[in-house]
Amino acid sequence: MNKIINNDDFFLKINDIFYSIQGESSFAGYPCFFVRLAGCNIKCPYCDTKEALTDINAKLFHISDIINEIITYGKNIKLVEITGGEPLMQSGVYELINRLLNLKYTVLLETNGTLSLKNVPDKVVKIMDVKCPSSGFEDYNNYKNLNFINKNDELKFVIGSNEDYEFAKNFINANKNVINTEKIIFSPVENHFAPHILADKILFDKLNVRIGLQLHKILNLK
Ligand code: SF4
Repeated sequence: MNKIINNDDFFLKINDIFYSIQGESSFAGYPCFFVRLAGCNIKCPYCDTKEALTDINAKLFHISDIINEIITYGKNIKLVEITGGEPLMQSGVYELINRLLNLKYTVLLETNGTLSLKNVPDKVVKIMDVKCPSSGFEDYNNYKNLNFINKNDELKFVIGSNEDYEFAKNFINANKNVINTEKIIFSPVENHFAPHILADKILFDKLNVRIGLQLHKILNLK
């Protein structure tokens, strides 16, 4: 029987494609090509990519055209981040991931942690949010995803309040036997939680976590 070809698997609604410095994660500081997919299934009050929350202004790209654009930037590019919005909302993301992996790119996937990671290839570096209370979407966390997080992946907690900090600390402690990565990031919400207060708390509690300070914003980049 012929396989039914679904066009959605070869096209993506894109908010933006750009080349910049990776600002977050353990790859912070490296040049990186970003593919920002349009649309998100939640609406965090502190979201700094509001333009990507819907597909109203998105452009439809064939996946081959996205790959060609990355290749055109030059062979020194090794790092590609797929982000959003929430990239796992679009089925075509898997075709993009697989083609990039076949071309030997290191692929980072930024995801809000509400949709299943089950079908994301192991080779992808998953940077998964665990939504804290101030997001308003704590109940949307898909906790089964912890089963798909391996030592190369990263967990990110966006901290907007003391309650968020306590939530993140308790979450790590309660799940220490399940969390398979040591790459855990606490990222303060800009203008809501002072980085130096977060640093003091981490030092006081002797947490083995990294502070994420959005290097791209410090550098005034996208
Ligand atoms: S999950 Fe990310 S993209 Fe979606 S609303 Fe929250 S911060 Fe914005």
